[in-house]
Amino acid sequence: MKHVEHIGIAVRSLEEANSRYERLLGQKAYKTEEVESEGVRTAFYQMGETKIELLESTRADGPIAKFIENRGEGIHHIAYAVDDIRAEMQRLSQEGFRLLNQEPKPGADNKIVCFLHPKDAGGVLVELCQERPVR
Ligand code: ZN
Repeated sequence: MKHVEHIGIAVRSLEEANSRYERLLGQKAYKTEEVESEGVRTAFYQMGETKIELLESTRADGPIAKFIENRGEGIHHIAYAVDDIRAEMQRLSQEGFRLLNQEPKPGADNKIVCFLHPKDAGGVLVELCQERPVR
């Protein structure tokens, strides 16, 4: 793993959270993107080599909606940058970490991603992310 690529924060309203985060960070989101397969709308802020990703659910039964229902708004996941996602998935699986998806899947901001079970990482949902290879 290279560095913390981003921190994902679950919010009820992206519009409301954006106006708060613009004031907090003193900058505007450089990108807003909907990931339909995940049922989320996201906004990204660049903080050095790490980003803050705000996540709003687009579906009442989506993972972010369920997270907020259970735990309220707050930090949803930590994402680590990797060079070779398949190699990391294999390594972590051998180390006993449960992968929530067995194949890398498309994520926001031009990434392919894999999630690890939060119970294996002290209650924190872990995301591996690799820049999507250019084809
Ligand atoms: Zn993420």
